[in-house]
Amino acid sequence: MSYDVIVLGAGVSGLVTASLLAERGQRVLLLEKHAYLGGRAREYRYQGHQLGLGSHLVEDPGDSLTRVCALTGLDLVHSERSDSMPFWTNGRGWAPIQEQYAGSAKQGLKRCIQALNETSYEELENWNHASLREWMAQYTSDEGVYTVWEAISVLEQITLRPWEHSASENLYTRKLHYSTRRTAGYSFWPMDGWDALWHNMVSAFEAHGGELRLSAPVRRVDVRDGAVRGVTLRDGEEIEAPQVVVSAPVWDLLRLFDDDVLPWDLAARIRMLAANRNRACWIGYWIAAKEPVIAMTEREMASFLSTPRCGLPGFTLNFTGYDGGVSPAGEYLTCVGASFDATTHYGDRAWLDRKFAELWEDIEEMLPAARGALWTKPHVVTSYGVITKPGLVGPVRPDAMVRGVEGLWLTGDTTRARGIGIDKAARSGITAAEAVLGQRLEAFAGTLRY
Ligand SMILES: Cc1cc2nc3c(=O)[nH]c(=O)nc-3n(C[C@H](O)[C@H](O)[C@H](O)COP(=O)(O)OP(=O)(O)OC[C@H]3O[C@@H](n4cnc5c(N)ncnc54)[C@H](O)[C@@H]3O)c2cc1C
Repeated sequence: MSYDVIVLGAGVSGLVTASLLAERGQRVLLLEKHAYLGGRAREYRYQGHQLGLGSHLVEDPGDSLTRVCALTGLDLVHSERSDSMPFWTNGRGWAPIQEQYAGSAKQGLKRCIQALNETSYEELENWNHASLREWMAQYTSDEGVYTVWEAISVLEQITLRPWEHSASENLYTRKLHYSTRRTAGYSFWPMDGWDALWHNMVSAFEAHGGELRLSAPVRRVDVRDGAVRGVTLRDGEEIEAPQVVVSAPVWDLLRLFDDDVLPWDLAARIRMLAANRNRACWIGYWIAAKEPVIAMTEREMASFLSTPRCGLPGFTLNFTGYDGGVSPAGEYLTCVGASFDATTHYGDRAWLDRKFAELWEDIEEMLPAARGALWTKPHVVTSYGVITKPGLVGPVRPDAMVRGVEGLWLTGDTTRARGIGIDKAARSGITAAEAVLGQRLEAFAGTLRY
């Protein structure tokens, strides 16, 4: 069997690229090293609950993963969207985030929204080095207004401090959601869950003639005389193809190539982005309980900039409020996460143990229903993505096209793309498919991607 394209990795970006290419009549082989689909956005059953491990919610306002599904004959059904944004303030507890910008401060927020509407995506590229607060300071000096968009940055980007919330990255997403959904943030859970979605995408891919091999780890992408020749699997099998799309994240990328295959500047940027200190990290608890573990409403997007004891910023999310099918009858599933700084604490087990203990005490104070938890599952997250601090976004990230190696393309959320997590991976998957085809796809005309 000969192939036009090999796509490496059946996470979101690889699935999107492979689906679009197969739909356009390319002979595509999709290789995944694991026995499961979804990559980091894997879904997993635990004590009867559906845990979207790296796929809590998706922030696709309708023009990326949803449209890819529609194009390939699938209906990605959105859950109802969140209905409130409680915000925690030490001393005053939970309150609607709107209280942060009450009175005259509201005008400052309006000025920011209007300025964003009038700023093009191209102009936002000039803000890759700067913080969100620097951009907002042009239109308001109100701390409460800063807090609102910075709290959203904590929820979406897992960035911690004011100077670490990237201007361009956050503003791209705010602009996208204001212009398509008239709201600061739009997110949903896919009804039926993530695993069903990934399997449905594979069925559609196969119906278009695509071939998937699970448990097929690629050892090396084969490049000779400046052009891709195919891949070699870990068991030594060689598979030929003139084009290879690699969706492995930057921390898995370099080991797939012999030395000096990639241009030195690209390799240097990948090495820098892949450093542990540049990972977006958090500690968290999955919590199952007999009543919803919530701040205010069952479909809230709740956030905090600092908890009483561990002092970290983070979020809480009640999945059962978005889709009752996620949990067994009469049970509720919540995840609470608190971001930490990888530059100082990556791999610091003693510090993490201390923070886990403090965070649980914080949760019991902030979300009292957690005290009666049926079970809890603590977890450390270090693979959310490359952190979107100023200077680590935009052109510093690898493009879809690898200059100097014919037929080699990169995709995934750690490459140059915009959006949040899954949405970012999907948008970069569309870009990669278009790069392979050498043309823009009409179905995505006018949508946000590189
Ligand atoms: C705990 C956690 C929570 C998250 N929560 C959210 C959220 O709520 N919302 C959101 O939008 N995003 C979230 N994310 C981020 C989101 O999961 C990722 O942005 C997205 O899944 C990345 O997709 P990708 O295709 O770019 O990469 P990946 O999912 O990493 O896909 C790469 C694939 O390549 C495969 N691969 C790698 N090397 C090889 C090889 N040598 N051979 C064959 N296959 C290979 C991998 O196994 C993987 O399947 C979360 C992530 C984590 C970890």
